[in-house]
Amino acid sequence: MKQLITIFIFITTTILTAQSTYLHCGKIIDTKSGTILKEKTIVVSENRIIAVEDGYTEPNSDSDTIVDLKSKTVMPGLIDMHVHIENETNSKKYLEAYTLNEADVAFNSVKYANITLLNGFTTVRDLGGSGVNVSLRNAINAGKIDGPRIFTAEKSLATTGGHADPTNGAKKILMGNPGPKEGVVNGVDEAKKAVRQRYKNGADLIKITATGGVLSVAKSGQNPQFTIEEIKAICETAKDYGFHVAAHAHGDEGMQRAILGGVKTIEHGTLMSAETMELMKKHDVYLVPTISAGKFVSEKAKISNYYPDVIVPKALNIGPKIQNTFGKAYKAGVGIAFGTDAAVFYHGDNGKEFGYMVEAGMPPIEAIQSATLTNAMILKMENDLGQIKEGFLADIIAVESDPTKDISTMENVTFVMKDGIIYKN
Ligand SMILES: [Zn+2]
Repeated sequence: MKQLITIFIFITTTILTAQSTYLHCGKIIDTKSGTILKEKTIVVSENRIIAVEDGYTEPNSDSDTIVDLKSKTVMPGLIDMHVHIENETNSKKYLEAYTLNEADVAFNSVKYANITLLNGFTTVRDLGGSGVNVSLRNAINAGKIDGPRIFTAEKSLATTGGHADPTNGAKKILMGNPGPKEGVVNGVDEAKKAVRQRYKNGADLIKITATGGVLSVAKSGQNPQFTIEEIKAICETAKDYGFHVAAHAHGDEGMQRAILGGVKTIEHGTLMSAETMELMKKHDVYLVPTISAGKFVSEKAKISNYYPDVIVPKALNIGPKIQNTFGKAYKAGVGIAFGTDAAVFYHGDNGKEFGYMVEAGMPPIEAIQSATLTNAMILKMENDLGQIKEGFLADIIAVESDPTKDISTMENVTFVMKDGIIYKN
């Protein structure tokens, strides 16, 4: 009884003393209805939204604070479904495997995480790195580092010589024989082991490279690289651990195998046929467009020696096609999950993707819904993220003007709150 009373006193004093933040919002994007609400107050306590009230309401305690966002458009924190938070493009990137220690990668990743958060992306899905991404996620969750909430694949899975084989392009003595532990699988048993290893290493989801890719030191940017049996084994094993599976894919055949094998998202989708678009819809698989990455690589490939020679023709061929395919897939009714492939271009520029999506025919409000509602649902966070609603996590951002009239404002996020903490104002 005495214990119960103590707990009761503790709870009541916590409620009474908890500071609240009152955000006076000129406009709020209601992602659920796709409409803009005017003159509202969001009340935040600890890390949650506790109320959304009409008009500009005043706090009832001196310890509460007011934030004036009356001239801005407010929306839920953005979610990017495709980043690589550990690294970033540069002309010497292909040497980094031989020059950077894990600690170097870790320090770099802190910088990239920070800049991502300050540009309004309060949640990201990291689709493959060295494993530093798991430690980074943990450090951010523990409040030791400022960065977005991370859902990470840890290390991408590939087949021997495939897009995410970490020893591609090395001389033979350095290639060694990477296996499931390093994310390289051949056959059903190794596929299962690689998924279980990711669980052991602390991943939140699985990423596979279903086809060749642009930036790997290998000839094909689009050939299928897994058998359907291997993909099925990965997806079925992933399910045992509550993981969903994301599949990098440029070529159509590899994409079809991935969809039929049970993946949740197709990354890039460059050479997707009309038939595959129907398959995507039938199996409830989402396209993560990464138009920004396509545009960046096709530009940089024109600069001599920015990429190794083997990459240049792939970048020039595949890069420019991504936006067009996205437009067709959107019109065909394929579900779109906002994602950029930040690291292939500079971290922090993620917001440019909105403009590219709109340019290809998607209405601004739907582009914003894809980066909030849709992505929250894929991450199974639909009751916590993606909406400004009572009970949801206080991930809230603001831009200077109304993005439904000027989508480029998404590149200029001027207020960022994550988990109830203000990082930029
Ligand atoms: Zn990627």
